Amino acid sequence: MAIPTATEMGINVTDRLNESQYDSMSVNQEPRAAGEGNTMNECKYELGEIVEYLMGGMAEDTRSELQIHVDAGCAQCEDRIASMGGFVQEPEPEVHQMVAQPLMDTQMAAPVGVRGGAVLTRRRVYEAESKVCIDIDQHEMEPGSSTVEGQVLIKGGDLDDLEGVEVSLCQDGIPMAVGSVDLLGDFTIEGVPSGNYDLTMSVGNLEIAIRGIEI
Ligand SMILES: [Zn+2]
Repeated sequence: MAIPTATEMGINVTDRLNESQYDSMSVNQEPRAAGEGNTMNECKYELGEIVEYLMGGMAEDTRSELQIHVDAGCAQCEDRIASMGGFVQEPEPEVHQMVAQPLMDTQMAAPVGVRGGAVLTRRRVYEAESKVCIDIDQHEMEPGSSTVEGQVLIKGGDLDDLEGVEVSLCQDGIPMAVGSVDLLGDFTIEGVPSGNYDLTMSVGNLEIAIRGIEI
């Protein structure tokens, strides 16, 4: 039996050629597309590792490595995390509370002179667990109202973590005056009425407190 030619079968040879050209074009395009967004082929992580990651059982360095990988946009890991996210609750990072203790207190008798238009009445330095250091300068701008200037230093910490952190002066747990830490670790709280305050701030999973600051 003779094999029918393409023309006999009603197939347009020119069309077929165009089709195969088109096919080879899309094959050529595929590696580019994969490089652009689809990182599925590059993923080295096993499903078990994703589970471990979600359960919080992963070692810190391995975990941050995977975090970077996921943040970079691995579609496979994203899909796996999304599909398992409903079943596995990601654990909250453990909050570590620190109460800073006074290290230095210069109860200076006013008047001591004018610095930058304000009278420096008192400077105190607090420290928590040899890790956090908080320097507080208190300037009484007018009777019964002070500006509190401070600086926060965290040993081994990143200044980026401090930027934008809220510093609150609280009475009975209620913030009475609030300032914000800038990119150098400095903060200013203006118009603080005289009284006794607890200073609180949260930096990452650190909750830092200074109890009983007399302003
Ligand atoms: Zn991945």
